[in-house]
Amino acid sequence: MTEDTRITRSVRCNCGKVSFTVTGIDKLAVHCYCTNCQRTTGSAFAHNHRFSEASIAFDRGEEFVKQYADGNTDSKRLMLRHFCINCGSPLFLKSTAVADFIAVHEGSTTDKTKSQPVLELFAHEKYPWIGDVKGEYGGPPPFPWDPQP
Ligand SMILES: [Zn+2]
Ligand SMILES: [Zn+2]
Repeated sequence: MTEDTRITRSVRCNCGKVSFTVTGIDKLAVHCYCTNCQRTTGSAFAHNHRFSEASIAFDRGEEFVKQYADGNTDSKRLMLRHFCINCGSPLFLKSTAVADFIAVHEGSTTDKTKSQPVLELFAHEKYPWIGDVKGEYGGPPPFPWDPQP
């Protein structure tokens, strides 16, 4: 898969009121172990599939999507976290520091295979019982501002 590969993913929230597709350049998936991603997902990490030049096309429910401006992040960057106001499902996030960037929460996609992460971010906050989850990836970090794994 090259950096210029464009893919489309279908995304829906748990209650089904929100459904959309995102199309863009596949920047591959990561696991993020930062405290805010743990809280946002209610889990041990966020599994984020990242796109460049992504376009969101809503099938339904755009009015149910709310944005939380998360300014107290480990990266010190303002992250815009989007979720369904009816069921609370986290859907995607954007960084105000990076143009043409979107990260879809992989668990919200309808793709059954789910993309294996190529990087682990904020790995110092990773729980010790989580094994090595990184897939094979020989290239540079998908974004130059990523902390090194
Ligand atoms: Zn919902
Ligand atoms: Zn995070």
